[in-house]
Amino acid sequence: MAVLEHLTSQEAIDLENKYGAHNYHPLPVVLSKGEGVHVWDVEGKKYYDFLSAYSAVNQGHCHPKIVGAMTSQAQTLTLTSRAFYNDMLGKFEKYASETFNYDKLLPMNTGAEAVETALKLCRKWAYEVKGIEENEAEIIVCENNFHGRTTTIISFSNDPVARKNFGPYTKGFIKIEYDNLQALEEALNSNKNVAGFLVEPIQGEAGVYVPSEGYLTAAKALCEKHNVLFIADEVQTGIARTGKMLAIDHENVKADILILGKALSGGAYPVSAVLANNAIMNVIKPGNHGSTFGGNPVAAAVAMAALQVIKDENLAENAQNLGEVFRAEMTKFIETSNIVSKVRGKGLLNAILINDSEDSDTAWNICLALRDNGLLAKPTHGNIIRFAPPLVMTKEQLLDCVSIITKTLKQFEK
Ligand SMILES: *Cc1c(COP(=O)(O)O)cnc(C)c1O
Repeated sequence: MAVLEHLTSQEAIDLENKYGAHNYHPLPVVLSKGEGVHVWDVEGKKYYDFLSAYSAVNQGHCHPKIVGAMTSQAQTLTLTSRAFYNDMLGKFEKYASETFNYDKLLPMNTGAEAVETALKLCRKWAYEVKGIEENEAEIIVCENNFHGRTTTIISFSNDPVARKNFGPYTKGFIKIEYDNLQALEEALNSNKNVAGFLVEPIQGEAGVYVPSEGYLTAAKALCEKHNVLFIADEVQTGIARTGKMLAIDHENVKADILILGKALSGGAYPVSAVLANNAIMNVIKPGNHGSTFGGNPVAAAVAMAALQVIKDENLAENAQNLGEVFRAEMTKFIETSNIVSKVRGKGLLNAILINDSEDSDTAWNICLALRDNGLLAKPTHGNIIRFAPPLVMTKEQLLDCVSIITKTLKQFEK
């Protein structure tokens, strides 16, 4: 088969199955084009994208300003490595630092790398500033967290599928219940070597679990009291997804270390970053950390354009407004339905709970039916379906999607 031959969906799936490692279980749909809130499969069928590549495509598929910045930079200079300066990185660092109100930014590529960077930064700060004895630092994390797939990160996951047979695991983590301030306080009181608290402001992968109001504010205050860094993983919740630029903005919390990824590039290119003030970031010295591609000129150009689009198009406000419409419409539906037991979320990061056992395949079958009806979403953790469309959606489009979703769900009534 010639490399450029046009494939049918089945041929594309067969190729991945045969030649690709089986580390994902995709919904059977093969996409070949995207624009705004829509994607098209290789047979030309059009869908609403209700996943946005796990909230990476907040600005919509192939946003012309982001693609324009990317192609123009790609034709000029793509990579210098950090062995030399380039004329784009400093501009991006200034732009993003000012946008999020930090002194400095450290650029990486993927979310997992940015989380690793934050952990290293936190540990080094603990030894050199806080004065914890070498190799004794502990970082508090939450049960059911998702922070990526590296060996250190899966060391503190409690998902057996992500962990089993990947040991030995990295030490230095204390796991507590999410959304439990007492557990945090106890962990802080009973361990004198705590350096940081790593938390997702909303647990996305766990099923869009929104903590109680005030949790983040109180957790930050506890961290301050114990001279412990509050590290916010906003890789999924950040960049306007939940109705504010950051999810912690809902509680006016400022993280000591902020982790961004995914929509930092609008899904055009892998760009991630860690932000902190000088008192923390200055512990990193030449040679301590790095990445060949981190901070490359294309990434810098793409990320600046991606952030500018969020601001120019008021996407945080749109996510806030449409999220309220979505949850109100779903709540109305739930009152008449026995297939969905709950809708929850913030902004346009939402999930519905399917009224069936956790190991049933109902949520998967609903996603197949949604696909047939022109809308793409994916179950997360058994009977939960996450709904996270691009933030460039209009109210009219959202209501169209609500009618596709409710019509589909009705087919599954018991
Ligand atoms: C997706 C995600 C990551 C990992 O990002 P990758 O780019 O896949 O490495 C980390 N943290 C959170 C909260 C995420 O949603």
